[in-house]
Amino acid sequence: MSLRPNITEVLSGYMPARPIGQGGMASIYLYENRVTGETLAVKSLHPHTVGEKDSVTRFFHEVQASLRLDHKNIVKVLGYGDWHSKPTMVMEYVDGGDLKDLLGKIGALPSEIGIFIAYQIMKGLDYSHRLGIIHRDIKPSNILIDRSGTVKITDFGISRVSDLTRLTQSGDVLGTPAYMSPEQAEGGNLDERSDLFSTGVVLYEMLTNFNPFVAENPSITLLNIIRCSPKPLFDINPTIPYQLETIIDRLIIRNPDDRLQNAAETASALKNILDELVPDGFSQETFQEFLTDPEGYTAQRRVKNSLQFLERGKTLLHQDHNNPEAAIVEFYKSLFLDPGQIEARQYITSITEKFGFASDRKSSEKVLELETSLQKDPANVAVLLQLVKRCRADGDILKAVSFSKRLARLRPKDPYILGQINTLLPRDQATQIMNWQSERARPLTSRETTRIDESVRERRPAIKPGEKPVSTVRATKGIDPFILTISAVIITITIIALFVARQFRTASETVDREMPMLIDTIRGNLQDDQLAQKPPMDELFTGRAREIIHKAQDEFKSGNIQNAIDEYLVFLSEFPDHDQADSVRMQLARLHQGQGKSDLAEAMLDDQITKGRNDTLIAYARLRKIQLLNDLGKKEEARWECIHLEPDYQKITSPKDQISFLMIYANLCEHIGDVDHAISLYEKIITGYTDRTGILEARLLKADDLFRQGNMLEAQRELWIVRDQSRPESVIHRTALEKLSQLEASNQSIAEGFNTDGSETSEW
Ligand code: ADP
Ligand code: MG
Repeated sequence: MSLRPNITEVLSGYMPARPIGQGGMASIYLYENRVTGETLAVKSLHPHTVGEKDSVTRFFHEVQASLRLDHKNIVKVLGYGDWHSKPTMVMEYVDGGDLKDLLGKIGALPSEIGIFIAYQIMKGLDYSHRLGIIHRDIKPSNILIDRSGTVKITDFGISRVSDLTRLTQSGDVLGTPAYMSPEQAEGGNLDERSDLFSTGVVLYEMLTNFNPFVAENPSITLLNIIRCSPKPLFDINPTIPYQLETIIDRLIIRNPDDRLQNAAETASALKNILDELVPDGFSQETFQEFLTDPEGYTAQRRVKNSLQFLERGKTLLHQDHNNPEAAIVEFYKSLFLDPGQIEARQYITSITEKFGFASDRKSSEKVLELETSLQKDPANVAVLLQLVKRCRADGDILKAVSFSKRLARLRPKDPYILGQINTLLPRDQATQIMNWQSERARPLTSRETTRIDESVRERRPAIKPGEKPVSTVRATKGIDPFILTISAVIITITIIALFVARQFRTASETVDREMPMLIDTIRGNLQDDQLAQKPPMDELFTGRAREIIHKAQDEFKSGNIQNAIDEYLVFLSEFPDHDQADSVRMQLARLHQGQGKSDLAEAMLDDQITKGRNDTLIAYARLRKIQLLNDLGKKEEARWECIHLEPDYQKITSPKDQISFLMIYANLCEHIGDVDHAISLYEKIITGYTDRTGILEARLLKADDLFRQGNMLEAQRELWIVRDQSRPESVIHRTALEKLSQLEASNQSIAEGFNTDGSETSEW
């Protein structure tokens, strides 16, 4: 490839200053003009990503096309060519970091911030699409933000060079395909609507801090995209405005014809929501305010919005005492944003008691049964209607709302459905929901789902040869593992429903007899054969049931984990009501996790949470799920699960595990800036337990929070206690000393002349 004069000209007078970033395809350097102080970003492709001469030509072709783009929401490309024998492009340097880092730093963004960023992306896309240029690789790391609050898209079109490699190679090399559109994942023809899909995924992630499709392995991610059924936003974060949810639904939808059709239309829809959400106007200055202190801004917003939801709930309750569902939804939202919002919690409790929204096992089973039918046929209006009614009767109002929204999408003009929804939601919101355009946001029918499975099955070998089946079900040649998994779940649940009437034993009896063994299972201390060495628990634990468990354990002992899993699944399908079912589900979750299949582990824990009979094991399942989500970085979901577990965490029998819960929860609260609640959780550890190390750790972390609050004296006091009560050689002791000296240093700089000798004594 011949040298292009262009790049040497553009870079004349510039010197490399420092590396900015590394992507899968390239490294980026900051170049500086020593005389003028001006900066540029220089991106050189790694030789291995463009080994083929063809790809290099293609890369330059794409870069050349993007030279034409001149818009404030697009990173300006200034030149390209070979530079130090690498294909290279030069562009403006954007000084505020990228969206990926921002999300990594503060987690889910307040809705208005997410909308404002997405709006700017849409503006940039609208411009480029009009020029016929599709981006093809919209993802958080390609969204840069400068310090003045302007959002800029980078890397137009150049992903085309690596599309093929991305589909066939491992995800580590070239980044995740998690933002691809379904047509892109299937290798089809793309138009501008593919960018809209990807931006929808980015927006989803901005609001929830996780990507709805991503899995441990790129081929499963692709499968998720092709199946395209992201978890409803409302189920993750009930405070996201309805209209915003609608827009995202209409961006993240499989068929491009069903999507919002262009970036201009989407931009103006986003603008409308922003105006409604922030009536006194959301400006670039407000965005700057956010950028200078994202954590502070977000924390403040949360508390403020939480109070708004509380007030709204109270007003609704006042308006109609006999119809408390709409109010209860608002109280839940308030609690979601601020778990320390006692008043909201009290309202929920008293409404629940007064209206007898008690969770009755039998109807929950009914809900499960209905949900199973819904899985088979997601567009079944009759099933959805029953689900709404059942969930309301159970007092599971949030779920009722979620189902009624799906219903509204299917039958937007049905007066009966409108009536149902009207009682669940304030009128204005209900009307908005009813205005959704059903044809566009229609869920897949079962036939379509099967078709997708088929198309995926054909693709699978091409995606990753030799990959293990996704399913936990015994691998059967020729049948897609996904279908097997789903059928297994469906069969299991159906059988459970059939068994409900036959066996019923109170949970408390079960707990008393089996507790020590069950707890061993959860804590991972259970020896492989312990489960079956125990004497039969009752007449049910005989013959066949026992045989399967034995078999499972034998398989486990011989290292055939997959076979052990299969046996346990057989057990669950044959004896869903068995006293051992709870512990078998926990065991399965553990095995799935051991195999690195966190999706399946999570699904199994969900099963245990909804179907379990044993309160302790339900609490443990929640704890496990929290740990799992937390490890996966799904912090918002993890925190939401913590909110659920908080009233019940003392049902966890081991104090160590209780502490572990409180620690994680506190950390998640800190993550959203809710320092007050974090401190109150640490205090529970400090005052409620005898575990010395746990208490000292809690004090250390509490000291950090106190420091953050500016409460230096209290922070210092905690640190002194840790220093005095820990062994001098321990890490905790050293950490406390370090923190103390930091604290003193900052105290000194704040108050010059402060007598530091005082810090040597613990009496002050
Ligand atoms: P990725 O696949 O993560 O987008 P890139 O090689 O495109 O990889 O970019 C790596 C990182 O460099 C990006 O995440 C971004 O933070 C940073 N970066 C890219 N372009 C610029 C730019 N023009 N100005 C400042 N930072 C940039
Ligand atoms: Mg990039």
